[in-house]
Amino acid sequence: MDADEVVSQMESLRHEDRDWRGGRVFSLVYTAGDDVADLLSRASGLYTAENALNTLVFPSLGWMQHDIVTITTGLLGGDALPEDERSGVRGYLTSGGTESLLQATRTARDWGRSIRGIDQPNMVLATSAHAAFDKGAHWFDVEARRVPVGPDGAADVDAMAEAMDDRTVLVVGSAPSYPQGVIDPIPQLGALAGERGVLCHVDACLGGFILPFLVTLGHITKPWDLSVPGVTSISADLHKYGYASKGVSVILYRNAELGRLQPFVTSNWLGGLYGSPAMAGTRPAGPIAAGWAVLHYLGEDGYLRLAAATHQAATAIKSCIDSTPGLVLRGKPDATVFAFGGQDGPGGIDTFALGEALADRGGWFFDRQSPPDSLHATVHAGHERIADELCADMVAVAGELRASGARATDRSTTYGTV
Ligand SMILES: *Cc1c(COP(=O)(O)O)cnc(C)c1O
Repeated sequence: MDADEVVSQMESLRHEDRDWRGGRVFSLVYTAGDDVADLLSRASGLYTAENALNTLVFPSLGWMQHDIVTITTGLLGGDALPEDERSGVRGYLTSGGTESLLQATRTARDWGRSIRGIDQPNMVLATSAHAAFDKGAHWFDVEARRVPVGPDGAADVDAMAEAMDDRTVLVVGSAPSYPQGVIDPIPQLGALAGERGVLCHVDACLGGFILPFLVTLGHITKPWDLSVPGVTSISADLHKYGYASKGVSVILYRNAELGRLQPFVTSNWLGGLYGSPAMAGTRPAGPIAAGWAVLHYLGEDGYLRLAAATHQAATAIKSCIDSTPGLVLRGKPDATVFAFGGQDGPGGIDTFALGEALADRGGWFFDRQSPPDSLHATVHAGHERIADELCADMVAVAGELRASGARATDRSTTYGTV
């Protein structure tokens, strides 16, 4: 096929894909405007062939990774540490949030094994912590002890303390959690880990590139980052609220001894020294370049502007849900991600019927999750201009469903597919 035909075939293959451009999709995609999209394409386009496996051959990729880690360290509380601790922080780029959590899990297992002699380790985490921790537990043979969240959706620290024993290597907190957007009590989780002498990972995959700006804007006051005593590692996805192309997350370790456990190095074969910071060998350069580009293009002012727009849109949608009879938020969301659904009981609304009606009426797409039955909204800067239109549709659809009492027959939920 010639190049134009290849591209036109792809364009027609896409006809069933959700069109996120108009701001009607509330998961998977984060948009910050056409100027940012153009920059991402240009930056990735410069680096389609390069390989971050060996940064001696491509020093620019070593430099960009170093710079991304340095900037992220500042954003995630590293610069607030005393100078002697600040210089101990170590960080790496990974392919995404899942990989950062896999790394945190494996590092904790190896720390438990080498420092504590624990050979059947477990980690303690709330039911709201991301599914990738279960993947890590499965891959690396660590028992995942899930503990129910409280009614506000936050981790229950006392119950987590009870779930710990002398084989616990890791305590997990989220900032915020994916399912209900709640920032866990990180100071208490850090203190718990510190008291027991174990590691504490803060999953800020979702929040890492927006919470620092919401804090500056005065919308968040809960402590959540690497500067909280007892927190030993933290992860943040540049490809979410950093508005980068897919394929970049950052994991930071509070000290060099711990950070040293992540990379893998061998020369036990015929091909020479193989040093590797993450899962992959050959590593795509495009996401690193695009991530570096967007950080410097937006800068602090750009991220503050986007965080303000995102906060405004999320606040408008949340208050619309709060004030519409039959609709409720699930838990107590802290930031710009939340879950909502129908009120139970007489005059209530079936949550999945609500999702279907919103899709039929306005093409709105929300992921479905359970338990409890919920629709999930990741609000980003691209949603600012549609918040009012969405609210009008929510009010109309809720009125119809309260009158009809309709229930959806499809009760399935999906976050990811095989
Ligand atoms: C998105 C997310 C992850 C997983 O990140 P991926 O980039 O999808 O692998 C982990 N934790 C939280 C809280 C997330 O929102």
